[in-house]
Amino acid sequence: MEQGRYRKNDIVTVTIEDIGNDGEGIGKNDGYILFVKDAVIGDTVEARITKCKKNYGYARVEKVVTPSSFRVEPKCRFHRQCGGCQIQAMSYARQLAYKEAKVRNNLQRIGGFAVEYLDGIMEPVVGMEEPWHYRNKAQFPVGYDKMGNLVAGFYAGRTHDIIPNTDCVLGAPENQVILETVLAYMRDNGVSAYRESDGTGLVRHVLIRTGYATGEIMVCLVINGKKLPAEDDLVERLGKILLDGDGVVSVEDGAVWDKRSEEKRKSCAVHRHIAGISVSVNRERTNVIMGKEIRVLWGKESIQDKIGGLTFAISPLSFYQVNPGQTEKLYSIALAYAGLTGKETVWDLYCGIGTISLFMAKQAKKVYGVEVIPQAIADARENAWLNGIGNVEFYVGKAEEVLPAFYGQGSEGQIEVEKRHPDVIVVDPPRKGCDEKCLATMLAMQPKRIVYVSCDSATLARDLSVLCAGGYELKRGRVVDQFGHTVHVETVVLIQRKDT
Ligand code: SAH
Repeated sequence: MEQGRYRKNDIVTVTIEDIGNDGEGIGKNDGYILFVKDAVIGDTVEARITKCKKNYGYARVEKVVTPSSFRVEPKCRFHRQCGGCQIQAMSYARQLAYKEAKVRNNLQRIGGFAVEYLDGIMEPVVGMEEPWHYRNKAQFPVGYDKMGNLVAGFYAGRTHDIIPNTDCVLGAPENQVILETVLAYMRDNGVSAYRESDGTGLVRHVLIRTGYATGEIMVCLVINGKKLPAEDDLVERLGKILLDGDGVVSVEDGAVWDKRSEEKRKSCAVHRHIAGISVSVNRERTNVIMGKEIRVLWGKESIQDKIGGLTFAISPLSFYQVNPGQTEKLYSIALAYAGLTGKETVWDLYCGIGTISLFMAKQAKKVYGVEVIPQAIADARENAWLNGIGNVEFYVGKAEEVLPAFYGQGSEGQIEVEKRHPDVIVVDPPRKGCDEKCLATMLAMQPKRIVYVSCDSATLARDLSVLCAGGYELKRGRVVDQFGHTVHVETVVLIQRKDT
């Protein structure tokens, strides 16, 4: 490769032949590889080079010369600036194919599985029927634009500049009126927004969570201080928002917010209502959004939602799957992979608020859940009680500490032995995957089956290579799209002990 042929800001023509890890288009100009942000596979584009390396460079689309047959009109006008939807300009069917290929590629490259083997065991991707307005949780940063106006919206990709957009096409339609109401309360009461540059100002984020099945909405303001001024006024204003069963939103003084499309209305099948308003105190200068302490201003601290006939209480600090419709499909697959008959002992590691544990408990003898966040375990116990499920036990702690500590005790008794050698272990770790110590203990426990639910197929592939080297075999796998228009992928796989 000739060096120095390309410079920053050069405009080059590129035909996009592949899709990168972050959804970017990959193509060549005279043999030089370019990663082109916002280009769709199949496009021919004029791109502006943003960074040059010896053998490859980065670029941005300036003009689409010949659009790809997979290119579609994005619904959101901010999609190129916002870091949220990386592949909104790609047709949904092509997005699904991309996600499947991404998982298979990682299983092959990092996990060491052969292509033919994967062809034989991978089941078809599970997509969404309607890939819009699916997210039940949004955390909007609050701050100032360059003119000093108070705004709420999204961080522009890889920065902390806020793009003022209160109407995200992935989120719940009523988020807009709730956010606008919070901003109006702030303006009228002179409440400041947090400034990351010097750590001053009060309101940092607004968290809105909706129980799609129950209609309950939680609004939580994250503040850099102990108290909000005029809390009653905030509660009163939010209390005036009326959301009816069709998703038509109005405010009691007569201003009607019914500006929304038919499609948005359809996504609100139940009567939505604000069930709780709270503040979370976060005075640290950090990127972590939520503070540790929650104070209820009105209503309930936790909202409820339902998945597959089970009711879940969700507190502001707990993890809860963001796409409940697809989650039900995901859990059903995990349950089928677990192959339960009512006699099995199951460990559910990284159990969150006990969602998978309770799903499994209905068809198992006993389920043990492990989760590091104490509040999530409190929710898990409440959820077991709410659903009248008695055959579950939950432990607070890191999976890589709780599991070896229990295993090392070596206590006798039938239940202890069954617990030490369960039939099934389910894991659903965060993106970084399972800790080595956790994997080693899982192998020592010798379950017949391990069901691995993963939100990062690279760490999934890494962990599977460890488990398969330890006497297990990859039997089934399926991609479930939980995050349409983003590059994130959820995968569930079944591995089985070879001698069973
Ligand atoms: N299975 C749950 C939650 C999955 S998300 C569900 O489907 O809803 C991953 C969870 O792992 C989070 O709740 C997170 O708090 C928890 N977690 C992260 N690191 C952990 C660790 N080392 N040990 C146990 N839990 C952990």
